[in-house]
Amino acid sequence: MRIIDRIKEGGVHISFEIFPPKTDAGYASVVEAIEKIAMLKPSYISVTYGAGGGTSKNTVKIASHIQKDLKVPSLAHLTCASSTKEEVAAVIEQLKEKGIENILALRGDIPKDAQFPLPGQYQHASELIRDIKAHGNFCIGAACYPEGHVESEHKDEDILHLKEKVDCGVDFLTTQMFFDNSILYNFLYRIREKGITVPVLPGIMPVTSGKQIERICALSGTTLPQRFLAIVDRFGDNPAAMTQAGVAYATDQIIDLIANGIQNIHIYSMNKPEVAAAIMRNLSEIVR
Ligand SMILES: Cc1cc2nc3c(=O)[nH]c(=O)nc-3n(C[C@H](O)[C@H](O)[C@H](O)COP(=O)(O)OP(=O)(O)OC[C@H]3O[C@@H](n4cnc5c(N)ncnc54)[C@H](O)[C@@H]3O)c2cc1C
Repeated sequence: MRIIDRIKEGGVHISFEIFPPKTDAGYASVVEAIEKIAMLKPSYISVTYGAGGGTSKNTVKIASHIQKDLKVPSLAHLTCASSTKEEVAAVIEQLKEKGIENILALRGDIPKDAQFPLPGQYQHASELIRDIKAHGNFCIGAACYPEGHVESEHKDEDILHLKEKVDCGVDFLTTQMFFDNSILYNFLYRIREKGITVPVLPGIMPVTSGKQIERICALSGTTLPQRFLAIVDRFGDNPAAMTQAGVAYATDQIIDLIANGIQNIHIYSMNKPEVAAAIMRNLSEIVR
């Protein structure tokens, strides 16, 4: 099923992101976690893509398993910064062969120890989006950043590039995590004003580790509001308490989003079925 069609159906929908194992040794336990997440009947499951190696190989395999065996639509992420156009084209063909209709098209991180961009190769996600469109009738998602992408000096410039990206053929956008919903509402206002009209799925991260989130937020430029910092300060060293508080905070964010008319929400599950299930339990009368 094309994700854009599910979005257009109306109703409140929750989806989850999972990441493939880095090594073949971790494969079985990751699949077990995904199977538990699939039992929560999300509207779809997205599968992240690493820069080369086992993670990228497993993205296609796992996205196919989710769709074919677990009967949940899958969204395969695909990055282009660390690959040649030929390598990317081969992955798109594999996705087509497996009947995967949904791709989240991303640039990915700029490779640290290599020249970027290589002549004739990808520089921005927008170029990848054009190529995916030329390869077939995929439903294409892309990333957006309510607080601005970390490399962008000005938010207005980032929104300008986002508009160019969407105009290349994006069906929907998913946001980077944020911990203050007013940042999302402000972002939506600004992008709608600039003529970006595609659906935007807020990405919500249930935080289960204080140290980890401080590191991720520093890298991605995500703001941690005072209310959230107090939680990390108080519970960050106690994994069980931090998980419970993280689930409560994420639930609170999701309920506020739904109350404000947002119908499709994407949750960064971090491959934790117990966390995904706890959120769905909290929403049992809200999401049916
Ligand atoms: C929902 C989501 C899922 C993600 N999944 C993955 C994943 O699976 N694997 C992974 O490795 N990473 C993933 N990422 C991270 C992502 O790859 C990085 O944030 C990356 O740095 C940017 O990717 P992008 O597709 O947004 O790039 P782009 O849209 O290309 O933008 C990157 C930067 O370039 C600027 N830019 C764009 N076009 C132009 C232009 N024409 N001229 C000048 N500047 C321009 C933008 O303003 C921005 O600052 C994900 C991010 C999100 C939000």
